[in-house]
Amino acid sequence: MNSGSASFPKRPHPTRGGASVPHRKNTADCRSEIMRCPETVVLPMKQHIGAPCVPCVKAGNAVAIGDVVGKSGAYVSAPIHASVSGTVTKIIPVKLADGSVCDAVVIQSDGQMRVSKSVRPPRVTNKAELVAAVRESGLVGLGGAGFPTSVKLDVPEGCTVDTLLVNCAECEPYITSDHRAAVEDTEDILRGLETVMRCESIPRAIMAIERNKPDAIRALDDAIRKSSEPESRRVGMLKLKAKYPQGDEKVLIKACTGRTLPPGRLPCDVGCLVMNISSAAFLGSFLRTGIPLVKKRVTVDGSAVSSPKNLIVPIGASVRDVIACCGGYCEPCGKLMYGGPMMGVALPNDTFPIIKQNNAILAFGREDSVLPRTTACIRCGRCAAHCPMHLMPAAVEAAVRTKDIASLKKHGVTVCFECGSCAYSCPAHRQLVQVMRLGKAMVRESQSAE
Ligand code: SF4
Ligand code: SF4
Repeated sequence: MNSGSASFPKRPHPTRGGASVPHRKNTADCRSEIMRCPETVVLPMKQHIGAPCVPCVKAGNAVAIGDVVGKSGAYVSAPIHASVSGTVTKIIPVKLADGSVCDAVVIQSDGQMRVSKSVRPPRVTNKAELVAAVRESGLVGLGGAGFPTSVKLDVPEGCTVDTLLVNCAECEPYITSDHRAAVEDTEDILRGLETVMRCESIPRAIMAIERNKPDAIRALDDAIRKSSEPESRRVGMLKLKAKYPQGDEKVLIKACTGRTLPPGRLPCDVGCLVMNISSAAFLGSFLRTGIPLVKKRVTVDGSAVSSPKNLIVPIGASVRDVIACCGGYCEPCGKLMYGGPMMGVALPNDTFPIIKQNNAILAFGREDSVLPRTTACIRCGRCAAHCPMHLMPAAVEAAVRTKDIASLKKHGVTVCFECGSCAYSCPAHRQLVQVMRLGKAMVRESQSAE
């Protein structure tokens, strides 16, 4: 570690709650493979938090990789680019995994994967150029949140950021896409984070990584030592205990700086800017090549997948095509998910496309998909003890049952970030995440009615 004049924590600050989930990082040693070119891609216009994009191409248009196919004038948004070369065949409404509907641009690939002539590396020498370039790149938080990175980097006047936190905790079981980025994309990661430090005048960066990724720790440490950029002297590494949900923004800020992020505040309010390691890797690659966000490293795993691996996938490829590139299903699929088993979203079928913030596809056989039987709450308090946000899920469940909005607010239900540590720890297998979601929706509804 090159710590230069910046100071770094010697060990993580203690954090509360969480769960010791089995890691099941089956693909940690699998070098990423590039997926073969799919015949078609479907690019939904909503792949981020914020305003959806509007298609700016029509059926019949020829496109190449990197051409903009959807954009929005809203501040909180990110453009969407063609991920294959070919012809736009139609614009159709599609249903997303959360049940909402948006337009999607469908491209028939010509199999050539031609990159657009408009693609060129951006010039980035200051904060304004960085924010503008990142906006053009279409980058959103690749750790799963999908928040447009240009908005995050546009730190408001009066906010002083003293720490860039690079999130490489990747605490969800099964998922190894960040781990592989740390091993395979170290130069791009360094380029990305050094540029952010330089343009945003951030004095130090901390790469936060769980201890169970020794090869990634070695690779990043080597890259920091070998870098000749002055910023690398101010990059440190903090090894975290492998504990779920170590990678959550609030938990990470606490572990790395000891600071508490109050509800409703942004990391920059406590002097931090948090960036996922795959986002840093993409940024470094974009600065080098100018190719916007058109592909994604995805972990494909689960008992129903013939050959689990990490694949680099064109955005918009169908889950079915992705699984076919992993040898297909080895047994009937009982549960299919975007993301990990703790915070992922169940999919009704495999026709859904890969979108920007997908970091994993998990497919489980029927035996592994059976939910345990729910029994009565025995008031053991484990759900509260394991909650990193100091919430009392059993009390929230009672308030949801009686539709007691005042009690839901008193118990801070809106602070829940749905990590699932409570449900995982509950001996009665209560469906506490669904309860928390319901409680949050009830509070939201009551506020909109006021
Ligand atoms: S962990 Fe489960 S059984 Fe224990 S208090 Fe919470 S809801 Fe009830
Ligand atoms: S109440 Fe919410 S934040 Fe707390 S453990 Fe449960 S899901 Fe996580």
